[in-house]
Amino acid sequence: THFGFQTVDEQEKWKKVHEVFETVAGKYDLMNDAMSLGIHRVWKDIFMQRLAPLHGTKLLDVAGGTGDITFRYLNYLKNLGPAPANKRSQVTVCDINQAMLDVGKARAQRLGYTAESGVDIQWMCGDAESLALPDDSYSAYTIAFGIRNCTHVDKVLEEAYRVLAPGGRFMCLEFSQLPNQQMQWLYDQYSFQVIPVLGQLLAGQWKPYQYLVESIRQFPNQEKFKSMIEEAGFRQVTYENLTFGVVAIHSGFKI
Ligand code: SAM
Repeated sequence: THFGFQTVDEQEKWKKVHEVFETVAGKYDLMNDAMSLGIHRVWKDIFMQRLAPLHGTKLLDVAGGTGDITFRYLNYLKNLGPAPANKRSQVTVCDINQAMLDVGKARAQRLGYTAESGVDIQWMCGDAESLALPDDSYSAYTIAFGIRNCTHVDKVLEEAYRVLAPGGRFMCLEFSQLPNQQMQWLYDQYSFQVIPVLGQLLAGQWKPYQYLVESIRQFPNQEKFKSMIEEAGFRQVTYENLTFGVVAIHSGFKI
Protein backbone atom coordinates (compact mmCIF):
# COMPACT_ATOMS: atom_id res chain seq x y z
CA THR A 1 0.00 0.00 0.00
CA HIS A 2 1.00 3.69 -0.19
CA PHE A 3 1.69 3.70 3.54
CA GLY A 4 4.11 0.83 3.34
CA PHE A 5 1.88 -1.61 5.19
CA GLN A 6 2.08 -5.08 3.81
CA THR A 7 -1.12 -6.63 2.51
CA VAL A 8 -2.01 -10.10 3.76
CA ASP A 9 -0.59 -11.57 0.55
CA GLU A 10 2.67 -9.69 1.04
CA GLN A 11 2.98 -10.78 4.65
CA GLU A 12 2.31 -14.33 3.57
CA LYS A 13 4.99 -14.13 0.92
CA TRP A 14 7.52 -12.63 3.33
CA LYS A 15 6.83 -15.37 5.91
CA LYS A 16 7.01 -18.07 3.28
CA VAL A 17 10.34 -16.86 1.90
CA HIS A 18 11.74 -16.74 5.41
CA GLU A 19 10.55 -20.22 6.26
CA VAL A 20 11.73 -21.66 2.96
CA PHE A 21 15.33 -20.52 3.33
CA GLU A 22 15.40 -21.21 7.05
CA THR A 23 14.38 -24.80 6.31
CA VAL A 24 16.53 -25.41 3.26
CA ALA A 25 19.77 -23.64 4.33
CA GLY A 26 21.65 -26.84 5.20
CA LYS A 27 20.57 -28.60 2.02
CA TYR A 28 20.61 -25.55 -0.21
CA ASP A 29 23.81 -26.31 -2.13
CA LEU A 30 22.95 -29.98 -2.64
CA MET A 31 19.46 -29.13 -3.85
CA ASN A 32 20.73 -26.57 -6.35
CA ASP A 33 22.92 -29.21 -7.90
CA ALA A 34 20.17 -31.82 -7.96
CA MET A 35 17.45 -29.59 -9.39
CA SER A 36 19.50 -27.96 -12.10
CA LEU A 37 21.67 -31.04 -12.81
CA GLY A 38 24.63 -28.90 -11.84
CA ILE A 39 23.89 -26.27 -14.51
CA HIS A 40 23.45 -23.50 -11.93
CA ARG A 41 27.25 -23.60 -11.52
CA VAL A 42 27.72 -22.82 -15.20
CA TRP A 43 25.14 -20.02 -15.08
CA LYS A 44 26.92 -18.49 -12.10
CA ASP A 45 30.33 -18.81 -13.79
CA ILE A 46 28.99 -17.02 -16.87
CA PHE A 47 27.41 -14.37 -14.66
CA MET A 48 30.81 -13.65 -13.08
CA GLN A 49 32.54 -13.61 -16.48
CA ARG A 50 30.03 -10.99 -17.64
CA LEU A 51 30.64 -8.87 -14.56
CA ALA A 52 34.40 -9.31 -15.11
CA PRO A 53 35.44 -7.58 -11.87
CA LEU A 54 38.84 -5.95 -11.49
CA HIS A 55 41.01 -5.56 -8.42
CA GLY A 56 39.37 -2.70 -6.61
CA THR A 57 35.80 -3.56 -7.67
CA LYS A 58 33.78 -3.16 -4.53
CA LEU A 59 30.97 -5.69 -4.62
CA LEU A 60 27.67 -5.87 -2.81
CA ASP A 61 26.19 -9.34 -3.27
CA VAL A 62 22.56 -9.12 -2.22
CA ALA A 63 20.49 -12.20 -1.36
CA GLY A 64 23.96 -13.70 -1.37
CA GLY A 65 22.87 -16.76 0.63
CA THR A 66 25.64 -19.28 1.06
CA GLY A 67 28.11 -17.23 -1.01
CA ASP A 68 28.08 -18.80 -4.48
CA ILE A 69 28.47 -15.46 -6.26
CA THR A 70 30.86 -14.00 -3.71
CA PHE A 71 33.23 -16.98 -3.94
CA ARG A 72 33.20 -16.74 -7.71
CA TYR A 73 34.07 -13.05 -7.46
CA LEU A 74 36.99 -13.80 -5.13
CA ASN A 75 38.16 -16.62 -7.34
CA TYR A 76 37.94 -14.44 -10.44
CA LEU A 77 40.14 -11.82 -8.77
CA LYS A 78 42.59 -14.46 -7.59
CA ASN A 79 43.01 -15.58 -11.20
CA LEU A 80 43.85 -12.02 -12.20
CA GLY A 81 47.01 -12.24 -10.10
CA PRO A 82 48.06 -10.40 -6.95
CA ALA A 83 46.16 -7.22 -6.14
CA PRO A 84 48.01 -3.94 -5.69
CA ALA A 85 48.13 -3.00 -1.99
CA ASN A 86 45.57 -0.21 -2.42
CA LYS A 87 43.11 -2.40 -4.37
CA ARG A 88 42.25 -5.30 -2.13
CA SER A 89 39.01 -7.18 -2.70
CA GLN A 90 36.05 -5.81 -0.85
CA VAL A 91 32.81 -7.67 -0.74
CA THR A 92 29.68 -7.47 1.33
CA VAL A 93 27.28 -10.40 1.32
CA CYS A 94 23.81 -9.33 2.35
CA ASP A 95 21.01 -11.78 3.04
CA ILE A 96 17.83 -11.61 5.06
CA ASN A 97 18.42 -15.05 6.49
CA GLN A 98 21.14 -15.62 9.06
CA ALA A 99 20.99 -19.42 8.59
CA MET A 100 22.05 -19.04 4.94
CA LEU A 101 24.85 -16.62 5.90
CA ASP A 102 26.10 -19.04 8.55
CA VAL A 103 26.45 -21.79 5.94
CA GLY A 104 28.30 -19.25 3.75
CA LYS A 105 30.68 -18.26 6.55
CA ALA A 106 31.56 -21.90 7.21
CA ARG A 107 32.21 -22.38 3.49
CA ALA A 108 34.48 -19.31 3.46
CA GLN A 109 36.55 -20.88 6.24
CA ARG A 110 36.77 -24.18 4.38
CA LEU A 111 37.79 -22.44 1.15
CA GLY A 112 40.47 -20.47 2.97
CA TYR A 113 38.83 -17.07 2.45
CA THR A 114 39.69 -15.71 5.87
CA ALA A 115 40.83 -12.36 7.23
CA GLU A 116 44.28 -13.91 7.85
CA SER A 117 44.53 -14.81 4.16
CA GLY A 118 43.86 -11.16 3.31
CA VAL A 119 40.25 -11.59 2.20
CA ASP A 120 37.75 -9.39 3.86
CA ILE A 121 34.15 -10.58 3.48
CA GLN A 122 31.49 -8.62 5.32
CA TRP A 123 28.49 -10.81 6.16
CA MET A 124 25.43 -8.67 6.70
CA CYS A 125 21.98 -9.80 7.69
CA GLY A 126 19.59 -7.35 6.03
CA ASP A 127 16.72 -6.76 3.68
CA ALA A 128 17.35 -5.98 0.00
CA GLU A 129 14.40 -3.58 0.15
CA SER A 130 16.00 -1.40 2.76
CA LEU A 131 19.79 -1.63 2.93
CA ALA A 132 21.58 -0.21 5.96
CA LEU A 133 24.37 1.06 3.72
CA PRO A 134 25.40 4.55 2.60
CA ASP A 135 24.58 6.06 -0.82
CA ASP A 136 27.07 5.73 -3.69
CA SER A 137 29.24 3.21 -1.88
CA TYR A 138 29.71 0.19 -4.21
CA SER A 139 30.97 -0.24 -7.73
CA ALA A 140 29.05 -3.45 -8.43
CA TYR A 141 25.79 -4.91 -7.14
CA THR A 142 24.83 -8.54 -7.79
CA ILE A 143 21.65 -10.40 -7.00
CA ALA A 144 21.42 -14.02 -8.09
CA PHE A 145 18.24 -16.04 -7.74
CA GLY A 146 17.14 -13.62 -5.05
CA ILE A 147 15.06 -10.81 -6.48
CA ARG A 148 12.00 -12.92 -7.24
CA ASN A 149 11.79 -13.78 -3.54
CA CYS A 150 11.51 -10.13 -2.57
CA THR A 151 8.09 -8.66 -1.94
CA HIS A 152 8.68 -5.28 -3.60
CA VAL A 153 10.99 -5.66 -6.57
CA ASP A 154 10.79 -1.92 -7.27
CA LYS A 155 12.17 -1.13 -3.80
CA VAL A 156 15.04 -3.57 -4.31
CA LEU A 157 15.94 -1.82 -7.56
CA GLU A 158 15.67 1.62 -5.94
CA GLU A 159 18.01 0.52 -3.19
CA ALA A 160 20.46 -0.98 -5.67
CA TYR A 161 20.52 2.34 -7.50
CA ARG A 162 21.04 4.28 -4.29
CA VAL A 163 23.98 2.29 -2.94
CA LEU A 164 25.83 2.09 -6.26
CA ALA A 165 28.32 4.84 -7.01
CA PRO A 166 28.00 6.66 -10.36
CA GLY A 167 29.43 4.34 -13.03
CA GLY A 168 28.47 1.34 -10.89
CA ARG A 169 26.91 -1.74 -12.39
CA PHE A 170 23.78 -3.65 -11.40
CA MET A 171 23.65 -7.31 -12.40
CA CYS A 172 20.91 -9.80 -11.79
CA LEU A 173 20.77 -13.52 -12.49
CA GLU A 174 17.26 -14.88 -12.26
CA PHE A 175 14.95 -17.56 -13.60
CA SER A 176 13.06 -16.25 -16.54
CA GLN A 177 10.76 -17.35 -19.33
CA LEU A 178 11.32 -19.38 -22.43
CA PRO A 179 10.31 -17.58 -25.62
CA ASN A 180 9.27 -20.84 -27.26
CA GLN A 181 5.91 -22.29 -26.12
CA GLN A 182 6.75 -25.97 -26.64
CA MET A 183 9.95 -25.62 -24.68
CA GLN A 184 8.13 -23.70 -21.97
CA TRP A 185 5.64 -26.58 -21.75
CA LEU A 186 8.40 -29.14 -21.37
CA TYR A 187 10.15 -27.01 -18.79
CA ASP A 188 6.88 -26.58 -16.85
CA GLN A 189 6.42 -30.34 -16.74
CA TYR A 190 9.88 -30.73 -15.32
CA SER A 191 9.47 -27.92 -12.80
CA PHE A 192 6.04 -28.79 -11.48
CA GLN A 193 6.45 -32.56 -11.46
CA VAL A 194 10.10 -33.24 -10.77
CA ILE A 195 11.32 -30.44 -8.51
CA PRO A 196 8.89 -30.93 -5.57
CA VAL A 197 9.58 -34.68 -5.75
CA LEU A 198 13.32 -34.06 -5.55
CA GLY A 199 12.68 -31.73 -2.61
CA GLN A 200 10.77 -34.46 -0.83
CA LEU A 201 13.36 -37.14 -1.59
CA LEU A 202 16.55 -35.21 -0.89
CA ALA A 203 15.51 -32.63 1.68
CA GLY A 204 12.39 -34.26 3.10
CA GLN A 205 10.33 -31.20 2.12
CA TRP A 206 7.76 -30.81 -0.63
CA LYS A 207 6.22 -27.38 0.06
CA PRO A 208 9.31 -25.16 -0.17
CA TYR A 209 10.13 -26.57 -3.58
CA GLN A 210 6.59 -26.15 -4.82
CA TYR A 211 6.82 -22.52 -3.68
CA LEU A 212 10.09 -22.17 -5.59
CA VAL A 213 8.48 -23.30 -8.85
CA GLU A 214 5.45 -21.05 -8.36
CA SER A 215 7.64 -18.02 -7.65
CA ILE A 216 9.50 -18.62 -10.93
CA ARG A 217 6.22 -18.62 -12.86
CA GLN A 218 5.11 -15.36 -11.28
CA PHE A 219 8.27 -13.36 -11.94
CA PRO A 220 8.08 -10.81 -14.82
CA ASN A 221 9.52 -11.88 -18.17
CA GLN A 222 12.80 -10.55 -19.58
CA GLU A 223 11.37 -7.44 -21.29
CA LYS A 224 9.13 -6.43 -18.40
CA PHE A 225 11.97 -6.82 -15.91
CA LYS A 226 14.24 -4.77 -18.18
CA SER A 227 11.67 -1.91 -18.09
CA MET A 228 11.52 -2.11 -14.30
CA ILE A 229 15.30 -1.74 -14.09
CA GLU A 230 15.11 1.29 -16.39
CA GLU A 231 12.33 2.78 -14.26
CA ALA A 232 14.67 2.62 -11.26
CA GLY A 233 17.05 4.93 -13.15
CA PHE A 234 19.56 2.50 -14.64
CA ARG A 235 20.90 3.11 -18.15
CA GLN A 236 22.23 0.85 -20.89
CA VAL A 237 20.02 -1.92 -19.60
CA THR A 238 20.48 -5.20 -21.46
CA TYR A 239 19.75 -8.84 -20.89
CA GLU A 240 21.10 -12.15 -22.07
CA ASN A 241 19.23 -15.46 -22.02
CA LEU A 242 21.03 -18.57 -20.84
CA THR A 243 19.77 -22.10 -21.57
CA PHE A 244 17.04 -20.79 -23.93
CA GLY A 245 15.74 -18.34 -21.32
CA VAL A 246 15.46 -20.69 -18.35
CA VAL A 247 17.52 -17.96 -16.71
CA ALA A 248 18.49 -14.45 -17.79
CA ILE A 249 21.25 -12.04 -16.86
CA HIS A 250 20.11 -8.42 -16.67
CA SER A 251 22.65 -5.64 -16.49
CA GLY A 252 22.39 -1.87 -16.06
CA PHE A 253 24.57 1.07 -15.11
CA LYS A 254 24.09 4.00 -12.79
CA ILE A 255 25.41 6.88 -14.86
N1 SAM B 1 22.61 -15.78 -4.38
C1 SAM B 1 22.69 -17.11 -3.82
C2 SAM B 1 22.90 -18.13 -4.91
O1 SAM B 1 22.79 -17.76 -6.07
O2 SAM B 1 23.16 -19.28 -4.59
C3 SAM B 1 21.46 -17.45 -2.98
C4 SAM B 1 20.15 -17.48 -3.70
S1 SAM B 1 18.82 -18.14 -2.75
C5 SAM B 1 17.86 -18.91 -3.99
C6 SAM B 1 17.85 -16.74 -2.38
C7 SAM B 1 18.30 -15.97 -1.16
O3 SAM B 1 17.56 -14.75 -1.09
C8 SAM B 1 18.06 -16.68 0.16
O4 SAM B 1 19.28 -16.83 0.82
C9 SAM B 1 17.11 -15.76 0.92
O5 SAM B 1 17.31 -15.75 2.31
C10 SAM B 1 17.42 -14.42 0.28
N2 SAM B 1 16.38 -13.39 0.41
C11 SAM B 1 15.05 -13.53 0.23
N3 SAM B 1 14.43 -12.36 0.41
C12 SAM B 1 15.39 -11.44 0.69
C13 SAM B 1 15.39 -10.06 0.97
N4 SAM B 1 14.27 -9.35 1.00
N5 SAM B 1 16.57 -9.44 1.22
C14 SAM B 1 17.74 -10.13 1.20
N6 SAM B 1 17.80 -11.46 0.95
C15 SAM B 1 16.65 -12.10 0.69
